[in-house]
Amino acid sequence: MSTIIAVLKESGDENRVAITPDVASKLIHSKFEVMVERGAGQNAYFSDQAYQDAGAQVVSRDDAVSQANVIATVDLPDSETLGKLHEGQILIGLLKALTDLDSIRQLAKQKVTALSFELLPRTISRAQGMDVLSSQASIAGYKAALVAADKFARYFPMMITAAGTAKPAKVLVLGTGVAGLQAIGTAKRLGAIVSGYDVRPASRGEVESLGAEFLTSSVSAIGEGGYARQLSADEQKQQQDELIGFIKQNDIVITTAQVPGKKPPMLVPQAAVDNAKPGSVFVDLAASDLGGNVAGSRPDQTVVTDSGVQLIGAGNLASEMVTSASEMFSKNVQAVINDVADKDAQITIDLKDDVMSQLVATDHGEIISERVRKALNLPTAQPAKDDDAPADSDDKSAEKGD
Ligand code: NAD
Repeated sequence: MSTIIAVLKESGDENRVAITPDVASKLIHSKFEVMVERGAGQNAYFSDQAYQDAGAQVVSRDDAVSQANVIATVDLPDSETLGKLHEGQILIGLLKALTDLDSIRQLAKQKVTALSFELLPRTISRAQGMDVLSSQASIAGYKAALVAADKFARYFPMMITAAGTAKPAKVLVLGTGVAGLQAIGTAKRLGAIVSGYDVRPASRGEVESLGAEFLTSSVSAIGEGGYARQLSADEQKQQQDELIGFIKQNDIVITTAQVPGKKPPMLVPQAAVDNAKPGSVFVDLAASDLGGNVAGSRPDQTVVTDSGVQLIGAGNLASEMVTSASEMFSKNVQAVINDVADKDAQITIDLKDDVMSQLVATDHGEIISERVRKALNLPTAQPAKDDDAPADSDDKSAEKGD
């Protein structure tokens, strides 16, 4: 029997689609069946007809959810849809495994195998083609510089004209990971004077290689797996005080700082917003329901202060460059599917594999990911080093997801 892969229409303001017609056609070529919920690609400019031309079946949501072996989604599906998932089904997407712990518990209880892109071990080279966080952050960083340039009431580049000379804009990027570096590169190409700041000193070389200045942080906060760690309250205060000085000298501030599974750090305190020049633009890529990097920014809203400073809450910019974002997301999904499928399109997930052991949040009723187990205060499921027992769900001492 062939394996059926379904793609659902996203809910809310999410415009992206997890599988494009191009990737659907490649999956069908690899002997999968593909079902697409009617209208799933519409907001990303992929018509139902394009999916049909690729060989996919366009069906209702209920049919897709009840028949699929694998469901690909961008965001965590709504609770009604989650409730309809059944035992053995594979769900793959940005499932908020570290932040929406109730949904992860529910997926475990329903014995769904949940693969959550937030958990991908990104530094393993085999995982790079699956790295949704990078593909989408790269788009968000690029778009952040464009949004800033659009909203700023002056030129980005220096302009020498018969009517006078315009000074170049000064852009500061706080958090120079994937999104930050892309924002720096884009702002540079638009002609601005750009600087970057991060608590990981290792990012200095990357910032400087783009021709921007690296502002040295007095706080160094290297965490696990190449990420930054959360700052202590004292370190946060020290950082905010030093950033007030840096921010005042700039016209545009693009913030991208995140710590996985935690509230984003507050980098731009109210005092820095109050001291900013009138007309300054802050683009907060961390703005979400969890919080943001800029005091007063609101997710998906632009707040204009009394002094004429624009605070743009831009936590989902990838969704605004929807076609490219969907194409890249879809390639990342395809890379995961290719990794776990054999030549007859049958899927087996090996929980001892170095990528899958981390990417899989839940399987056969258990919480597999050690990062999720830690977030849920569950004991580690890994056996001791001298134990011959397998590192997966055979460990009967591990607590069940419910
Ligand atoms: P992220 O989205 O978790 O955070 C964005 C940036 O914010 C990071 O550079 C982080 O250091 C910074 N940050 C966090 N707290 C901060 C604070 N208080 N003040 C200032 N900056 C702060 O990061 P990311 O873009 O996903 O990248 C995380 C790391 O993973 C980087 O080292 C990146 O190079 C690495 N990475 C490696 C690979 C790979 O090896 N293939 C792929 C992607 C990312």
